[in-house]
Amino acid sequence: MGKVWFVGAGPGAPDLITVRGSQVLAQADAILYTGSLVAETALQWAPQGCEIADSKAMDLAQVTDWLLTRAERHATVVRLQTGDPTLYGVLAELARPLDAAGVDIGIVPGVSSAMAAAAAAGECLTLPEVTQTVIFTRFAGRTPMPPGESFAALARHGCTLCVFLSIERIAAVAETLQGAGWTADAPVVVVHKATWPGEEQVLRGSLSDIAARCQAAGIVRQAMILVSPALGARRRAGAATSKLYDAGFERRFRGK
Ligand code: SAH
Repeated sequence: MGKVWFVGAGPGAPDLITVRGSQVLAQADAILYTGSLVAETALQWAPQGCEIADSKAMDLAQVTDWLLTRAERHATVVRLQTGDPTLYGVLAELARPLDAAGVDIGIVPGVSSAMAAAAAAGECLTLPEVTQTVIFTRFAGRTPMPPGESFAALARHGCTLCVFLSIERIAAVAETLQGAGWTADAPVVVVHKATWPGEEQVLRGSLSDIAARCQAAGIVRQAMILVSPALGARRRAGAATSKLYDAGFERRFRGK
C-alpha cells in the first residue's frame, strides 16, 4: 500500500506552493487535482509518466475509489487542493475510508487564501491592543452554520474575520456585521484572485458601500472578505505598538 498525500497548492501564484508540496508532487505516481486552475498550475511539478486526473466531475465515492485504487498500485498518490487542504475541503471525508483501509496519509500545508489576501492588501490581521484574534469563517449557504457559529454571533466579537465562500452574499455579510455592532464606516477589504498573476484585484470600502463596489467591479466569485479593526493600521499614526519590540520588554533571546 502506498501513501496518499493531501497537498495544498497555495492560493494562485505558482511559486506559492511550499517546497515540500512541490517535492511530493515531483515524486508522485498519481495525482488527483480539484479541477481548479490553481491546482492545475501546480501540476508543472509532476514527473513525466505520472497519472493525472481531474476530480471535477467525480462524486465523493468516486474520488475515494480513485485514491484507494491508486494507493494499492503506487507508492505516492497526491490529492492536490487549492490554498490549505485543512480549510473548507473534504479532507476528513476522504481520509476516513483511507484510514479504514489502512492507507497511510500525509498532509502538506498550503498558503491559505486568507493569508494571501492579507498580504495582497498589505494588511495585518492582528494589531496590538486592537485585535489579537482571527476568525476564519463563512456566511451560511447550502452548508448551514453549526450552533453557536452564526455569522452574527461571530461578528459580535469585533475581532478580525476572514470570510471565505461568501462573496455572492456580500450585501448580507455587510448588513449582518452592522446588526452585530460594526459601524457603517467600518473598513472592509475584498481581494479577488489573490496572487493570481495579472488577475488579482484589491477592493477597499466600508460596510455601507462594499457590496456596491463589488458589483461595480463584477466580483462575484473567488474572493476573500477581510473585516477587521486592524485594517488600515499602516496609515494610522499613534496606534499601539507591539510589546515584542518594546525596549523595556525582556525577550527570551535579547535579554534586558
Ligand atoms: N482551502 C482554501 C479555501 C477553499 S474554499 C484556502 O485555504 O484558501 C474557497 C474559497 O476560498 C473561495 O470562495 C474564496 O473565498 C477563497 N479563495 C480561494 N482562493 C482565493 C484567492 N486566490 N483569492 C481570494 N479568495 C480565494
